[in-house]
Amino acid sequence: MTTVHEASDEVSVWEDDPGAPPSTRTPVLRARPALRTAPLAVDVQGAVPPDAEGAVRYWTAAEALGRTVALYAPLFPADEFPNGAAWNPAVGDVLVADLNAGVDLNAYYDRGGLAFFRQHVSGVTVWSGESPDIVSHETGHAVLDALCPWMWDAASAEIAAFHESFGDMTAVLAGLRLATLREQVIGETGGELSRSSRLSRLAEQLGWAVRQLAPSSADPDCLRNASNELFYRDPVTLPPSAPASQLSSEPHSFSRVFTGAFLRSLAGMVHTVAGTGQVDDEALLTAGQDAATLLVTAVTDTAAVPSYYAQVAAHLIEADQEKFGGKYAAALQAAFVRHGILSPASAEAIIDGATGDDDEKVGERSIAPGAPHPRGASTSEVAVSGRPYGLPEDLTVHAPVEAPRFSVAPAALSRGELVTTPGEDVAAAFVEDLFRQGRVAVPREYQRGFAAASGVDGTLRTHEVANNGAGLVLVRRVFD
Ligand SMILES: [Zn+2]
Repeated sequence: MTTVHEASDEVSVWEDDPGAPPSTRTPVLRARPALRTAPLAVDVQGAVPPDAEGAVRYWTAAEALGRTVALYAPLFPADEFPNGAAWNPAVGDVLVADLNAGVDLNAYYDRGGLAFFRQHVSGVTVWSGESPDIVSHETGHAVLDALCPWMWDAASAEIAAFHESFGDMTAVLAGLRLATLREQVIGETGGELSRSSRLSRLAEQLGWAVRQLAPSSADPDCLRNASNELFYRDPVTLPPSAPASQLSSEPHSFSRVFTGAFLRSLAGMVHTVAGTGQVDDEALLTAGQDAATLLVTAVTDTAAVPSYYAQVAAHLIEADQEKFGGKYAAALQAAFVRHGILSPASAEAIIDGATGDDDEKVGERSIAPGAPHPRGASTSEVAVSGRPYGLPEDLTVHAPVEAPRFSVAPAALSRGELVTTPGEDVAAAFVEDLFRQGRVAVPREYQRGFAAASGVDGTLRTHEVANNGAGLVLVRRVFD
């Protein structure tokens, strides 16, 4: 590794990722990040390691944490956070990152903090916390959990996938806050941000390591590429797992549909800002900032509904009407139609209704400007049969069964719209996926049948069956 001489107020860090081996990237100098500073205080566990490589790891994580929270802290809605942005109460005042939580190719957020792992693969020790892409992704989980805590236990592949997408969108938006990266991305894409670039290729080094062990489990050039052509499918119609080249209902896989639409929206927003001129640094900076504003507004307004992606997309378009006078409408509509998250008729209907014309309605509701937003989305408890999984009684889960605010739907493959799957069925399919994938930890007394083998191959168990006194419930442990 190149030795970088540091002034006391600067530290050397990776910009977005160390890169897939053999990487030619070198750390850059950045201002030493402020740790344990409210709002959304962050810290890295332990002291700065004495060796140069350890120090780069430490400061890379610290700088990425600080850069990510600086993106979101000013955007928390003041009516819900009158004292300023704050973590989920379970986290406490400071979100602490453990960069050396054990041996694995993974990272997670568990409402206690962030955990990053290391693994030696083909002669290279890969530390997941050394990638700003991954640090921003995990911090994104924590930010979304602060904004929308109801999503934590939502039994929905689409909502779990949105949580993953939010992490990846966060990595893209946090990357756009680096001037050096903006310059490289303009050079690499010619200003067409929807193209594959260093910005869209998330976690190149971890993706490389995953491919050494499971070649079909990551994209060819990174872990997940936000530049993609994936088209929406109802996740209940998808297999629970698939190679990276195909879509499955597994949350990381399905997240790519929304992330792809978001990157394409961002690319259109960049053109909107640039107008007829050249795409420049300022256009990337402004579009990234405005996209973050729209994203936070949309997620805090969206209810717990089965067809979640389409509702978030509709709320993004509405938020643009409110915050930016609708200047990004065409960019957003085109991107969400292109990825099938909104049918063409749905995308049109939102704008028709959002112009403020008193006679225009979207679905049941008028959304004339100034109409109050319903706040505090929540899931509802439903019972799923426990018998197929060796459980002696029904399992209570949290289903997304609220009424959607917009009458919109994702696209059918041929034409028109998909029929929305009821929230109860979404929840039951999510539970079945988790058990089939070995993701559920079951108490010893209920361990029988195939579910008893869950976790023995090292699969991270994201959920557990617990007894809350009234019966068996499904509880999330982590977002990995
Ligand atoms: Zn994640």
